[in-house]
Amino acid sequence: MDKQPFEIDEAMVRLRDAVRPFPKAAMFELRDDGFGSPFEQLVACMLSVRTRDETSLVAARRLFAVARTAATVAELEPAAIDALIPDVTFHERKAAQIREIAVTVRDTHGNDLPCDEDVMRSFPGIGPKCANLALGIACGQQRISVDIHVHRVTNRWGYVRAKTPEATMDALEAVLPERYWVEINERLVPFGKHVCTGDRPRCSTCPLLAMCRQVGVTNHR
Ligand code: SF4
Repeated sequence: MDKQPFEIDEAMVRLRDAVRPFPKAAMFELRDDGFGSPFEQLVACMLSVRTRDETSLVAARRLFAVARTAATVAELEPAAIDALIPDVTFHERKAAQIREIAVTVRDTHGNDLPCDEDVMRSFPGIGPKCANLALGIACGQQRISVDIHVHRVTNRWGYVRAKTPEATMDALEAVLPERYWVEINERLVPFGKHVCTGDRPRCSTCPLLAMCRQVGVTNHR
């Protein structure tokens, strides 16, 4: 098939449409449900690391139903936090890290996590993906958060060529218009889960097929 040039504006229009039937990416769903503070977003992202969205979302809601500010979370013992997030991967370690973050935010930052990358990255368990998501969603900063879906899909498009999510983030910063830096994660998480799946992507019915280079795709539906 002759491919059309890859047009990111057109791709984003098609992506918005394509993911409408599917559940939103966890952090965006939490934001839309009112859990959009930097602290809530950072904690929810940490819960989602190596854990399915469906599981981490329920755990985040369970924790926030009991405590959703740094001061209230800091009042909880790690074991009490752990009991609220038992199905999350590395829950015991994450419970201790969440409490540590909460205590620091309460005692050092007046109970308000600042929109500051250095502060966020100084916390245990927080890497560039979670810092960028929190800064993008909760703070309105233009940040690209690259998880496995963003990495896989943008490389299959041929839009970037990078071996790791970190390298994809750098590559996207060079080519992706800033107005899409937060939205790219919002769209590509559900798109990567349901359309451009890791195994046998659904290329034959994909709305981007005409412009996607399908890099590395050898078997598809
Ligand atoms: S055409 Fe295939 S590889 Fe390209 S975005 Fe669609 S599902 Fe993914």
